[in-house]
Amino acid sequence: MNDEQEVLCPNPNCKAKLGYIVVIENLEWLQMGGGIARQWHGVCATCGKEFHWSVSDRILEKILAKTMN
Ligand SMILES: [Zn+2]
Repeated sequence: MNDEQEVLCPNPNCKAKLGYIVVIENLEWLQMGGGIARQWHGVCATCGKEFHWSVSDRILEKILAKTMN
């Protein structure tokens, strides 16, 4: 499966490419460089903006998006 989605810096003035979302076994994971993570808490290397990502947040987002439709 080659279902990749770019993850960009949340700072609208920066939007640096931080990594990719990859789908493995129907779950989304965050690929950063050579590693694949279930969660990431750090800062953008370009502008210093805080960046948080986790598998459970993504699942929650999808559940909420469905209930709002
Ligand atoms: Zn940035």
